[in-house]
Amino acid sequence: MQLHNTASAKTEQFIPISDDVVTLYTCGPTVYSEPLIGNWVTYLRWDLLVRTLRANNYAVNRVMNITDVGHLTSDADEGEDKMEKGARREGVTAWEVAERYTNRFLEGMTALNLLPPETLSKATEHIQEQIALIQQLEVGGHTYVIDDGVYFDTATFPSYANFAHLDLEAMKAGARVEFNSQKHNPSDFALWKFSPKDQKRDMEWESPWGKGFPGWHIECSAMAIKYLGETLDIHTGGIDHIPVHHTNEIAQSEAATGKRFANYWLHANFLLVNGTKISKSLENGFTLADLGEKGFTPLDFRMFVLQSHYRTESNFTWENLEAAANRLHHWKAVACLRHQVAPSSNSDGGSQLLAASHAALEALCDDLNSPLALAHFDKAFDELERKDKSTIDASSIESALATADDLLGLKLLDTTPDISDELKQVLIERERARELRDWERSDALRVQLAEGGIGLDDTPSGARWYYL
Ligand SMILES: [Zn+2]
Repeated sequence: MQLHNTASAKTEQFIPISDDVVTLYTCGPTVYSEPLIGNWVTYLRWDLLVRTLRANNYAVNRVMNITDVGHLTSDADEGEDKMEKGARREGVTAWEVAERYTNRFLEGMTALNLLPPETLSKATEHIQEQIALIQQLEVGGHTYVIDDGVYFDTATFPSYANFAHLDLEAMKAGARVEFNSQKHNPSDFALWKFSPKDQKRDMEWESPWGKGFPGWHIECSAMAIKYLGETLDIHTGGIDHIPVHHTNEIAQSEAATGKRFANYWLHANFLLVNGTKISKSLENGFTLADLGEKGFTPLDFRMFVLQSHYRTESNFTWENLEAAANRLHHWKAVACLRHQVAPSSNSDGGSQLLAASHAALEALCDDLNSPLALAHFDKAFDELERKDKSTIDASSIESALATADDLLGLKLLDTTPDISDELKQVLIERERARELRDWERSDALRVQLAEGGIGLDDTPSGARWYYL
């Protein structure tokens, strides 16, 4: 399997630390508001990674964090805690906001058919681990305390700039205006923030340095190390994480353990909406519910995401989503064919499907090339549809669809059950009416089927039904 490693800027052969299990850490959501489609794209990308690893017979041990404290509105450790902001907006406590949007996130995961991580860990449930890691950094001389918190001194980690190719001198020059004058370097970041003296926070804890809350970055290091060990195989996130969040995760983890934190770093590119970046002011941050209002399912969106490669920018438009929905609709029509052909046969109908399944996996093993994987299935499905019914069989369709479902998570088999005996009877009656050239009755029966959610394609080898 080949993966593009941000750390080396190269596509590399993937070699896990252990033969048995791949350790994988995914930076999770900050649960302060409704997840937007731009957030979901990233999780769909890593779901594809997990599915591809499993298809390569790796067991995967994945941790995803839930950021429910300490993520400030500015990456520079300025501004307010997003959780407290959400709490004010909704007139509830930060704890209630966290619970509300953690649940929304879990519901969205299910709707999108995202595989659950082996461990889903909340920052607020790992405060002691975070404090312990900060203490370890303190002993190593990597921290200092100023008025508003405990900071990591990036000058004590000489390779700090390497991962994101940062120009620290330019940062110093550019930071003059906003530079917290107590910070030793503009790139230094908060490990522990003190609660404001004049304000009671919903979320705060005692620590050796004073009452407060953890900085955003430390949670990922603390939880990754706790559950996956000091060096993980793969760490994933969005490309916006590279210059700050992941750079800081590497600095604090490696400064504490003296070991390489992750062997492979994978980053998903942005989702644009109508060619522009998603922003609050443009009100172009759609949710899954917004898509539902226009008649699109979460799996339509999943297909849309698979149509682009994770390292390219993808562009969301309603037209693009519609094209993806049409593609999925077509694939489901192919899935319906398995109920309308012989269970198995000696024909060669299955060999092309089998070849497509292998080719799709091969495409995904090449740095998760999902557009190519889809194209392989498209080609095989088109060929299948052109064949005479008598030359194709259910078992080869089913095994190709099972592979597609395992790899792509589109639930093709689950969403296309066989139709009821009553509807089957209507189909038989309609075939009879057509044989008798009773077009009026044939049309009436077609309408009856449509009312039952079934569409029909009349082909030279008989009618084929599909879900409308
Ligand atoms: Zn993280």
